[in-house]
Amino acid sequence: MIARAAVVTTPAAWRDLRAAAQPGASAGLVPTMGGLHEGHLSLIRRAAAENDLVVVSVFVNPMQFGDPADLENYPRSLDRDLDLASDAGASVVYAPAVETIYPARFATSVHVSGVTERWEGESRPGHFDGVATVVTILLNQIRPDRAYFGEKDWQQLVLIRGMHTDLALPGTIVACPTVREADGLAMSSRNSRLSDKERAAATVLWRALTAMREMTGTGEADALKLALMGAIIIRREPAVTLDYLQVVDPETLEPVDIVRPGSRAIVAAMVGSTRLIDTMALHLDEVQ
Ligand code: AMP
Repeated sequence: MIARAAVVTTPAAWRDLRAAAQPGASAGLVPTMGGLHEGHLSLIRRAAAENDLVVVSVFVNPMQFGDPADLENYPRSLDRDLDLASDAGASVVYAPAVETIYPARFATSVHVSGVTERWEGESRPGHFDGVATVVTILLNQIRPDRAYFGEKDWQQLVLIRGMHTDLALPGTIVACPTVREADGLAMSSRNSRLSDKERAAATVLWRALTAMREMTGTGEADALKLALMGAIIIRREPAVTLDYLQVVDPETLEPVDIVRPGSRAIVAAMVGSTRLIDTMALHLDEVQ
């Protein structure tokens, strides 16, 4: 039997638990919005392999949702999350109330310029300020030695790395590879909202990215051609509406003309009323 992770709702309760642990015990933080799936669990397992204590935060962050209906419909399943996180090696689940993250008269927001301006930043105004602010607060409240983030949300990962350096936030940022379903669809809490038909159609994002990667492998380095080919594949899927598909520099997120080592394809699309994103490194010798 695996011991259930302790649930704490305040930073003070976490500090007490940490103080009761062995002196010098290291702590890893895995920030999530719940609805845990294998993608999250891979981060938790990695954190458990590298730290003595693992804190999984479960907080559906209102500040990063532009659309109230999206916030309202976001899947919430704390009991199930607690079981899954415990099995994957979490020692603590941090499930704060909104007021514990944003106290009365909260008036601060963290804005990372540059990398946030395009793509998700453009399609979801205010989203990245919400992400940057909550991650700053979580890192300061938990003060982990390491914090784990998924490469699936590449733009988010880049802004977190930049902000972490700029603001001298605690710990080290660790990036973890994207976990996919057997048919290629990147795991996401939002996938549970797809109808059967939409779920089948959603694999087109992975199919387009894979086709672009394979074409790069045959020697095609023209980013525009690759993006066009990917867009044609996606447009053939009637249930899917493409938002953007681009080949970008992995650090600046600026579009590139020529695919170089490290260049990534990034994609976002609506599948029915669900917005999905995905990304892939295009060079065949790069780990996915
Ligand atoms: P979320 O709960 O969607 O905010 O995600 C919490 C963390 O899990 C973020 O760092 C995500 O990038 C990461 N994550 C989400 N989906 C996946 C996935 N399929 N593979 C790897 N990491 C993921």
